[in-house]
Amino acid sequence: MASAVENSSKASDRLYAAIGEFLARHRLSVDPAHYAFAHKVLSDPRGPLAAAVARITDGGVRLSSRDIEELGGRAVIGAPATAGGDSAPNPSSPPQLTVVADNTKTQSLVARAQMQVEDFGDTVRAMHADARGFGQDLRASRDAIRDARDARDGSAIDEVVRMASSMLDRVSSAEAKLQEATHEADRLRHELEQARDDARRDPLTGLPNRRAFEDAFAAAVADGANICVAICDVDKFKSVNDRFGHAVGDRVLKAIAEALRMGCDEHLVARFGGEEFVVMFTGLAPADALSTLEGARAAVAAKRYRLRETDAPLGAVTFSAGLTPVEQGDTLGSAMGRADRLLYAAKEDGRNCIQSDW
Ligand code: GH3
Ligand code: MG
Ligand code: MG
Repeated sequence: MASAVENSSKASDRLYAAIGEFLARHRLSVDPAHYAFAHKVLSDPRGPLAAAVARITDGGVRLSSRDIEELGGRAVIGAPATAGGDSAPNPSSPPQLTVVADNTKTQSLVARAQMQVEDFGDTVRAMHADARGFGQDLRASRDAIRDARDARDGSAIDEVVRMASSMLDRVSSAEAKLQEATHEADRLRHELEQARDDARRDPLTGLPNRRAFEDAFAAAVADGANICVAICDVDKFKSVNDRFGHAVGDRVLKAIAEALRMGCDEHLVARFGGEEFVVMFTGLAPADALSTLEGARAAVAAKRYRLRETDAPLGAVTFSAGLTPVEQGDTLGSAMGRADRLLYAAKEDGRNCIQSDW
């Protein structure tokens, strides 16, 4: 029988391994603050912090710096990752979380943007020098023409023609450089817009992500818009994965996302994480928001899925939702909290239904 000391050492080994796995999964550098955060989460797996992390990361979503901040940490984006494990936690200082920017695509785009800005600067400097030379040549040319006219000297005209040709060459080379620089700037602007859009979109469903939703909510509240929010959670989705596999689950999730987006017309539908979607209805009376969402719910419930490989039916996949109007003084948290409680009531009520509170 294992001794108490052996048991405790095994538990420590397990915790240590779990912390390593946690840091790797969330692409957090091995640094004391991250270690402390992971330790706090994993040493109390039933605690509120672990529950909050599980909720945010449900379905494989990585913790973001904003998530960590919201969970009580302080995140510094872009801190360098330390490869070694030589930094021991300092118990006297409060944990500071440094989150490494995990998007290498964005980093490479920023590097390219810097290079292009530098190239652009070189081009403009070269053109400036050319323009200065052009001005000098123009003055010399004017003087030469004047002298030639006064002296009635035919040979000076040849010199003027030579200077004019050289000026034309410079102008056309400057034009080409400017055109190329303008194209580069357009390409860069387009790529930056694309990167900004990618960062705000869920890659699986193509819907706006939680961050985009938070920003849209804040903007709508600042505008004083009349809004209702809904949380929609796919019913018994775990069993879809369990029965048919994760890849099929992904395809179903995409189809539900599309049906929900279509069903909610022009209103904002975002993927909040996992199998949860959120909708923000703007400029609709609550009853109209409810009937729109009811239409989307019915459309999703009416869809029938089949396995692509065997054509075997998967049956229907439904969602339940909680819908609430956003009141004066509401924050995203307070409104979503109400919607979440209503969603829970809808689940209790048998699923494939919507609960609202007005
Ligand atoms: P309930 O009706 O109570 O909501 O039941 P549920 O099974 O939907 O709820 P539960 O929270 O137990 O399970 C949610 C499942 O959704 C578990 C998780 O694996 C799955 N899921 C979350 N995100 C994704 C994803 O991106 N792809 C796939 N295939 N599954 C996901
Ligand atoms: Mg859920
Ligand atoms: Mg669910």
